[in-house]
Amino acid sequence: DSRVADRTVDSVCPYCGVGCQLTYHVKDDAILFVEGREGPSNQNRLCVKGRFGFDYPRHPSRLTTPLIRRPGVAKGLDPDFDPAQPLTHFVEASWDEALDLAAGGLADLKAAHGPDALAGFGSAKCSNEEAWLFQKLVRTGFGSNHVDHCTRLCHASSVAALMECIGSGAVTASFMQALQADVVILTGCNPTVNHPVAATYFKQAARNGTKLIVLDPRGQALDAYAHRSVRFTPGGDVSLYNAMLNVIVSEALYDQTYIDAHTEGFEALKAHVRDLTPEAMSPDCGVEPEQIRELARLYAQAERAMIFWGMGISQHVHGTDNARCLISLALACGQTGRPGTGLHPLRGQNNVQGASDAGLIPMVLPDYQPVGDAQMRSAFEELWNSPLDATPGLTVVEIMNAIAAGTIKGMYILGENPAMSDPDLDHAREALAKLEHLVVQDLFVTETAQFADVILPASSWPEKDGSVTNTNRQVQLGRAAVPLPGEAKPDWWIIQQLANRLGLDWHYTHPREVFDEMKQGMASLDHISWSRLERESSVTYPCPAEDAPGADVVFTDAFPTASGRATFTPTRPLPPDEPIDDDYPTVLITGRQLEHWHTGSMTRRTRVLDDLEPEAVASLAPSELGRLGLSPGETVTIDTRRGSITLKTRADPLMQSGMVFVPFCYLEAAANILTNPALDPFGKIPEFKYAASRLHRA
Ligand code: SF4
Repeated sequence: DSRVADRTVDSVCPYCGVGCQLTYHVKDDAILFVEGREGPSNQNRLCVKGRFGFDYPRHPSRLTTPLIRRPGVAKGLDPDFDPAQPLTHFVEASWDEALDLAAGGLADLKAAHGPDALAGFGSAKCSNEEAWLFQKLVRTGFGSNHVDHCTRLCHASSVAALMECIGSGAVTASFMQALQADVVILTGCNPTVNHPVAATYFKQAARNGTKLIVLDPRGQALDAYAHRSVRFTPGGDVSLYNAMLNVIVSEALYDQTYIDAHTEGFEALKAHVRDLTPEAMSPDCGVEPEQIRELARLYAQAERAMIFWGMGISQHVHGTDNARCLISLALACGQTGRPGTGLHPLRGQNNVQGASDAGLIPMVLPDYQPVGDAQMRSAFEELWNSPLDATPGLTVVEIMNAIAAGTIKGMYILGENPAMSDPDLDHAREALAKLEHLVVQDLFVTETAQFADVILPASSWPEKDGSVTNTNRQVQLGRAAVPLPGEAKPDWWIIQQLANRLGLDWHYTHPREVFDEMKQGMASLDHISWSRLERESSVTYPCPAEDAPGADVVFTDAFPTASGRATFTPTRPLPPDEPIDDDYPTVLITGRQLEHWHTGSMTRRTRVLDDLEPEAVASLAPSELGRLGLSPGETVTIDTRRGSITLKTRADPLMQSGMVFVPFCYLEAAANILTNPALDPFGKIPEFKYAASRLHRA
């Protein structure tokens, strides 16, 4: 029977931060189908991506041999690029030839211009071990801290606020704790689309009596389960949350006992929000004052309440302020540190938590140790036997700006696709074309790889062993199920080959040896060993002992700050960087779709998922379509001050009028041509969730 597997391999889904465990059913070294496994965050469940998104590694356009740019061929994105056609811009090369060229180009630039001429983007799609090796290579081989990844475009502002206020960037409780909460606020997130299996826990909680409060400019499927669903004005979030804090203060709904025992700065917050009344904030956020009062009372008076948020909160120039407000709500009401309470930024990619923990961030070493901290730096210098730079590196968008300015001249990009994911793509693509030397390591000739001098064929998730850390702080083991195709290689091997050609002396033979090294530098991995992961598949950090489960809820007694206390950080409402006006009257919001993952490099090469959502669509309220004189399915052109795209329309009754939503995975209508690169000053995250646009019939 061709449908009967000859073996099964237990692993983890390669897509979102929920981290569903799954089993590959394999026959003749090919994956037949995938089943959900009894993992702690999915209990056998999978969404459509996890269940059907497994055939991309065998797509005909999969890279199976190293490529180098044909001499004299200009760099740029070919709009007619067809991955199914023979490559015209690149020629095949041996591994030695490609690696020598890749490392040689980087070494030459470093010798001529110094370490600051080089930068690296790693990926949240990589394992913890790959992330560790990548940042170690940049720090010890390139000699700078110019290393970042897509957390910068995702939850960097949330992490900045959490680090500042509670001393830790990870969630304080898993999403399974929602089942024990009386009230759950979901804001700036759309779990049914972006964290589908987590959404099933929220639905289950609602069925058990938990009051779900959904706060977002857009409607969503969870509205049907919500006790209250409130659509606020895009960009009005800081006003809404400050008004809720005002109610909590003015009606004395706060938990003074908790505040006295665990926090500092509440008196200043009280004074700060005194004039931010519901009446004063209502025009900004578009929520009636009485509704704001009801929301504040529901949250504050609940015995146990949690707040979950997503990129609707983080991807703003006031993203850090948004998260500060949510943290203040939780601290003021004593809604952390107990079962059924907590703060949970729903992490995006399957390993954005782990890659960040492993130090794939320009301002911190692994476990969030500041690069400027001499004591911590010296501990890593000893571990890695290499001097380290004390200056924080540049972030994703700053690196693109530095390339445009001519200071960064060479890059190594592993698994990221900035030619699709960066804001203001024309600018980002011009920058990529300007690089004197670009090495891209990926599964396909992605849009970014089209700018490369050397392309190195990498390993997909079902082809490698490695650990990943999900949104719940669960470190989980992924296992190789099928062999690498052609001459593709494990990513750790490729990074090591480059490292050794750059003068380092690495001798890893398996990711488990990298994990052992990580444990020497990361206290968060205490009591979690590779052999334990092999046995148990998943262990939550922090973990108190080899034979104990990890902590699902943290900070029960104290916060990991110098004083052991959390801090309130007051915030003032800030307008979007580019408010709508008469010329550009419509708010453009970008994001993901259920069927596609980020820039689509994997899911658009997955048959079932691409069949389900084959083309770009702009979602608009039916009233907005009527105003534009368009029927659903007709095409619309969207302009912003940075560019234009044309795509089909879709009527979406969950949208408010005055808004348009566009997913960012479609090259043929690349939403990020339109987006605003203005950055949050703290998290350095761009404002993907608000750009002034104008729409007209194509
Ligand atoms: Fe994969 Fe996330 Fe879907 Fe789970 S919810 S199957 S981790 S994409």
